[in-house]
Amino acid sequence: MKKIVIFIGPPGSGKGTQAKQLAQKFNYGHISTGDLLRALQTQTEIEPDEAEALKAMKQGKLVPDWLIYRLAFKAAEEHLNNGRGVVFDGAIRNTAQAATYQEYFTGKNLAADVVVVEIALSDEDAYNRLTKRRICKECGAIIPWLPEFYSVSTCPKCGGELTARADDSEEVIRKRIKEQGNEALSPIRDYYQQLNLLKIIDGGKAIAEVEKDVVAAIS
Ligand code: AMP
Repeated sequence: MKKIVIFIGPPGSGKGTQAKQLAQKFNYGHISTGDLLRALQTQTEIEPDEAEALKAMKQGKLVPDWLIYRLAFKAAEEHLNNGRGVVFDGAIRNTAQAATYQEYFTGKNLAADVVVVEIALSDEDAYNRLTKRRICKECGAIIPWLPEFYSVSTCPKCGGELTARADDSEEVIRKRIKEQGNEALSPIRDYYQQLNLLKIIDGGKAIAEVEKDVVAAIS
């Protein structure tokens, strides 16, 4: 199995869910740049250039590449130096980033250890998932808009009432899909296809089915 697993796919495709499961299953590090950026947002002491860069997030835009490298490479270092594999989740969203990560892996003698998994989903399905996902008013569990949850009307964990997530605003979701959906993914897909690193799997299936396909793709 490859040591570096990179997930790409539109927002809402299930990258986060699959990356977390995979990292747990194989005891790999899990690096989500979205999580790292959200953690930075909550810090009280933050550099002025970082605070300025983070503003893009609120508008559904990409934050500058330098901030991604600063956070992601720092987080990856410890795992890789200890010989541990790493799952990258949403960490690459343009071709400049893809090329810079490849340089980074080459510098660590890991270029042959990279596999890229695209969780394919149409922009329309991504929009439906993000606007229709729900949250439990009681326990806060997130109920994704996935086939196995379509008929669920109360929380599967605690039976609580479900509601829409306050921060899934339609305007920001539209912008995220425009900026980070299939049109933006196309050159990244081409880049990895040329390097013969890309595996594409169907993200429209149930979570457990997608997981099986992911494991098969990287083995
Ligand atoms: P996510 O939680 O993965 O949906 O990411 C949330 C937000 O963080 C995105 O909408 C972007 O604003 C920002 N972000 C996350 N990863 C990257 C990246 N690799 N490059 C640029 N911006 C990113």
